[in-house]
Amino acid sequence: MSRVHEFYKNEGSKIECLLCRHYCKLKDGQVGICGVNKNENGNLVNLVYGKVSAINIDPIEKKPLYHFLPGNTSLSIGTVGCNFQCPFCQNWQISQSKSLDGSYDVTPEQLVSLAVEKGCKSISYTYNEPTIFYPFAKDVAFLAKEAGLKNVFVSNGFESPEVIDDMVGIIDAFNIDIKGFKDEYYKKYLKGGLEGVLDTLKRLKERNFWVECTTLIVPGDNDSDEELRDIANFIAKELDVNTPWHISAFHPDYKVNDKGATPVETLQRAYNIGKEAGLNFIYMGNILNDNTTYCPNCGESLIQRVGFSVRKNILNNGKCPKCGTEIAGVWR
Ligand code: SF4
Repeated sequence: MSRVHEFYKNEGSKIECLLCRHYCKLKDGQVGICGVNKNENGNLVNLVYGKVSAINIDPIEKKPLYHFLPGNTSLSIGTVGCNFQCPFCQNWQISQSKSLDGSYDVTPEQLVSLAVEKGCKSISYTYNEPTIFYPFAKDVAFLAKEAGLKNVFVSNGFESPEVIDDMVGIIDAFNIDIKGFKDEYYKKYLKGGLEGVLDTLKRLKERNFWVECTTLIVPGDNDSDEELRDIANFIAKELDVNTPWHISAFHPDYKVNDKGATPVETLQRAYNIGKEAGLNFIYMGNILNDNTTYCPNCGESLIQRVGFSVRKNILNNGKCPKCGTEIAGVWR
């Protein structure tokens, strides 16, 4: 357990951080794009190790994960920093900060004890991009596993392939953002990259992690029929039709205050496009809506939700009690 971590390789006089696809090459004293991994005397140091900026007990539905231990709570933690710079970030106060002034010191042991004491079934690494604090998350996640808890990453999908391989057997589930389907938008506007995100998603599915996807629909940015169709088709064809797609309404935040909230009609249009692509599970977020899980075979209403709470769950060992169809997800 240490701030100095092993996710690097030597590159001449620099060290290259292997945590995310930016692969920052850092001279002595230099900090990477995320602001929280630093070359200190030839060691790569995670500056937010054990420094938690936000901690809450959230319903797992808030991540959002709808097909993963529904109706249970998840101890949710984040730090400061991010490897993207989305101008509409809803957690920008922590994600775009590098200051540790408002953070608490916590150990992995304390976090896991708290999660067990509060009856949580998982720990979620969320609020800011968890890949940039993976050395800390990994130590927490190991202990969590030993205590019988599962681990959840809520991420922008820019994990390096090296980190994805390291997560096997440690992290159980992911919610990954697909913020659009244009590489230029990802590069110029979000300071990330689309191809890397799509590659991450394919790798996660190949390694049998549970994956749900989220698209925040920002009016004028990613709400054309064509782009929504590209996203839905990617999920259906490259992942699978049983991957839940959360389409979420944008509200003005951070630097984007000149656009209105996403109209319900736009979410409905995205829903219809997802259905045309063959997706079985599409859910609308950030608006009040019927987000019931229906059996894709017989149409039976299986899991009913109101807001973030589950009002009914009649799944029987992960199967529809009426027709016996197995419903994709992690149910216990
Ligand atoms: S986590 Fe990503 S952004 Fe941060 S230093 Fe490492 S490679 Fe760079």
